[in-house]
Amino acid sequence: MAKRDYYEVLGIDRDATEKDIKRAYRHLARRHHPDVNGTDPDAERKFKEIAEAYEVLSDNEKRHQYDAFGHTKSGMGFDGFGAFDDLFGMVFGDFGARSQTRATTERGSDLICDISIELEDAYRGVEKNINLKKALKCEECNGTGAEPGTSPIECLLCNGSGVIRTTQRTFFGNLVKTHTCNRCGGRGKIISSVCKVCDGEGRIKKDCSISIKIPAGATSGLRFKINGQGEAGFRGGPFGDLFVDVYVQPHSIFEVRGNDLMCDFAISFSQAALGATIDIFTFDGDEKLKIPPGTQGGTIFNLRGKGLPCLNSRRRGDQLIRILVATPTKLSAAQKELFKRLDEIGEENLGIKKRLSD
Ligand SMILES: [Zn+2]
Ligand SMILES: [Zn+2]
Repeated sequence: MAKRDYYEVLGIDRDATEKDIKRAYRHLARRHHPDVNGTDPDAERKFKEIAEAYEVLSDNEKRHQYDAFGHTKSGMGFDGFGAFDDLFGMVFGDFGARSQTRATTERGSDLICDISIELEDAYRGVEKNINLKKALKCEECNGTGAEPGTSPIECLLCNGSGVIRTTQRTFFGNLVKTHTCNRCGGRGKIISSVCKVCDGEGRIKKDCSISIKIPAGATSGLRFKINGQGEAGFRGGPFGDLFVDVYVQPHSIFEVRGNDLMCDFAISFSQAALGATIDIFTFDGDEKLKIPPGTQGGTIFNLRGKGLPCLNSRRRGDQLIRILVATPTKLSAAQKELFKRLDEIGEENLGIKKRLSD
């Protein structure tokens, strides 16, 4: 098949500038790229033709030769796209030959640990030590993984890039593919003699104790992060993070309701009727609470600001005191006598509503 004129292929004049050529190529390559235009069986041939024309006309020397001799000049024809992947990248951005670069080190894993604290610790905040086994930087090789006195050398296979590029001839040009270098595992460096302590990992598992500050106001289910307290990275890579899940143990007196602390307090029948001043346990010591006369069972009193602190704010919850009126179960003869007297005086006078059934 006779070759079409390159200028004709790109639809430009013979005196087109470099810019014109580039613009025309981009426009046409987008339109005729087989990946974009899969339905057109002719797309591949057209695309190849466009790319070929561009390869010649965008190169000043080749363009001069072409202008002078046309297609007849030997060696002038399409001999693969030398800069195919550059063209590809130019037209399709990252979509084309994408190079994969990998870090020479790897970040260590994150760790998660549970920590159980008492409610009072949640109230005040606490510092706790936890013991765990985790990878730490190898002291012997200072995390490099190389035997002390030696240092990692550049991988000759990939020239330290960690990436191997292979050129594949396809019907529409040379495709450059990249893959991770097998020899160095993409790290670009090779350790000729590995550290015997860590086996070239640059890290070793060790038992360690970590001090953890638990903020006041921590509640069950809270997860917080301690930066850099996870495992050491491969060959000196950065440490992972440590996540701490908090569990607050149940308390003998308090029930946690959000930031409020609820407790029950039983008073006697007489205290409920006559009123009283009672001593209430709080985490900051006993507090006096005045119970007014005629207090009903189930009444809730509030000690402001005696609850749990709110995380990230200065607010605090309250301590709630739910009053229970204890009904006496064992009465002495004298007590029985008094209750009988009370009953005789009449419940109406006590201000208690009579039940409907009476
Ligand atoms: Zn080591
Ligand atoms: Zn390599």
